[in-house]
Amino acid sequence: MRAAIFKGPGAVELGERPDPVIQEPTDAVVRVVLGCVCGSDLWYYRGESPHAAGSIGHEFIGVVEQVGADVRGVREGDLVVAPFIYSDMSCPHCLNGSTISCPAGGNFGNGVIDGGQGQAVRVPLAGSTLVPVPGTGHSDQTLRSLLALSDVMSTGHHVAVMAGVKKGETVAVVGDGAVGLCAVLASRRLGAERIIALSRHPERQKIAREFGATDIVEARGEEADQAVLALTGGIGADAALECVGTAQSIATAAAIARPGSVVGIVGVPHGQVPFNQTFFRNIGWRGGPAPARIYIPELLGDVLDGTIDPGRVFDYETDLDHIADAYQAMDERRAIKSLVRIGAV
Ligand SMILES: [Zn+2]
Repeated sequence: MRAAIFKGPGAVELGERPDPVIQEPTDAVVRVVLGCVCGSDLWYYRGESPHAAGSIGHEFIGVVEQVGADVRGVREGDLVVAPFIYSDMSCPHCLNGSTISCPAGGNFGNGVIDGGQGQAVRVPLAGSTLVPVPGTGHSDQTLRSLLALSDVMSTGHHVAVMAGVKKGETVAVVGDGAVGLCAVLASRRLGAERIIALSRHPERQKIAREFGATDIVEARGEEADQAVLALTGGIGADAALECVGTAQSIATAAAIARPGSVVGIVGVPHGQVPFNQTFFRNIGWRGGPAPARIYIPELLGDVLDGTIDPGRVFDYETDLDHIADAYQAMDERRAIKSLVRIGAV
């Protein structure tokens, strides 16, 4: 089959990988319909995080082509959303909501396990990993939003959940990438009354507004801190959501969180989390990789009935032949998030 191959920093190319086959009775083979490039793929692409040579891509929706003898819950022909990791949903960690820590689980597109940027994927633990989508004949817009559940919208939801966003609260979202935008949408969905989006790009501000942002702060650094404090009467945000992971964005989240609050953090930290700065304001930090498999069923209904449209974050589209362009567009910040059209439903 044809698939994106990670060859090293700056080099993701179309190549060949073996056609996936059922290896364990709990496996399924899924033919990929839509895949995409994640902000975390960019860390690998830029050489800022290590990645093994080989398969890449951990977000996809597709159609189940074949299931092993022990797979329950999904059947051949099902349209499915794959969370970005596979997990058994039965171990103590999965049952405690931390699927990322599942000892039987693993990552798609890690160089060895098939990735979502390819024509097909062998999905381990398929019955407990894949989420079937009810109904047929979904619009392209719905399919794009279903793809967003695989990671970016689940992660946006996670950061809001981690920070304990509640009805009527004031939320500040640091980061206007796809996750930050989804965090705005998730905060609105959870009932936040005021949502301050930190963004300096007009096209991202536009989506943030559509997703529910009530205020936009264009400044960065200490100027941004002051602007958010001014908007909140000097108190700070009830929930600060860190969606980037750089030293500057982490420092901003620390500065704009109100005393006694919890900062949600889902940007993979590439800087120190300044706990010593927040300690004397009784601020907590909570976050990590989202347990997407747990959130997808809850978010799926809202996508299918049109309540949320997280697929809006895909503003660049290409196919597997042009996978290198999908990365370049995001690397050069021409795209918020690149969608890769791979197969028909
Ligand atoms: Zn588990």
